[in-house]
Amino acid sequence: PAKPIQIKMVLLGESAVGKSSLVLRFVNDEFKDYKEPTIGAAFLTQKVRLDDSVLKLDIWDTAGQERFHSLAPMYYRNAQAAVVVYDITRAASLDKAKSWVKELQRQANTAMVIALVGNKLDLAAPAPAEGEAAAAGEAEEEPAESETERADSEAELAEGEAPPHREVQAETARAYAEEQGLLFLETSAKTGEGVVEIFTEVAKKLDLA
Ligand code: GDP
Ligand code: MG
Repeated sequence: PAKPIQIKMVLLGESAVGKSSLVLRFVNDEFKDYKEPTIGAAFLTQKVRLDDSVLKLDIWDTAGQERFHSLAPMYYRNAQAAVVVYDITRAASLDKAKSWVKELQRQANTAMVIALVGNKLDLAAPAPAEGEAAAAGEAEEEPAESETERADSEAELAEGEAPPHREVQAETARAYAEEQGLLFLETSAKTGEGVVEIFTEVAKKLDLA
């Protein structure tokens, strides 16, 4: 068997959108409701099998805070792939994602594969009226389970505060991603939906020749 192809990948995006949680789900198949913020950056590696080859992904999970922004180029400079994450329940996090994309397009390797990922899909309000958004998996959720979850998160809310709900429609983000030539996926680090796909889709798009 051929030796694994090493790929350097970087995760970028505003803090608290779920970058570390996505990596934790992918690497350990775990989720934590409280994930301590990343300081600087964290490094993890994971192998993925793709057809006949094995890729070893060297994943740099960066801190989202503005005070670490100046470190980012160290992580994306020689990366072959970037995963830019936003939180579907916070429209401002998509603006931040777009500014990361711009920075990558200006400063990073031009062959870089970039994926735009809308995370926290489990918080999308269930069953919008008709035809609207509704990511596939959402409707299949067992009613009993989702009610418990909703009750849990409501318990932590201040009075009058709306529970988190979708602020970014999938179609809006997808249109932007298409226009910019990015991969696009919605995910939930919490349920695991779409997480492995981020890494396999990116790997497929890399030119490994
Ligand atoms: P990072 O700063 O981008 O690395 O974000 P973290 O991975 O530290 O996650 C920030 C918070 O969001 C944590 O409390 C996570 O438990 C939570 N979180 C991350 N991903 C998800 C998700 O897919 N769904 C939900 N409901 N919460 C998530
Ligand atoms: Mg983090």
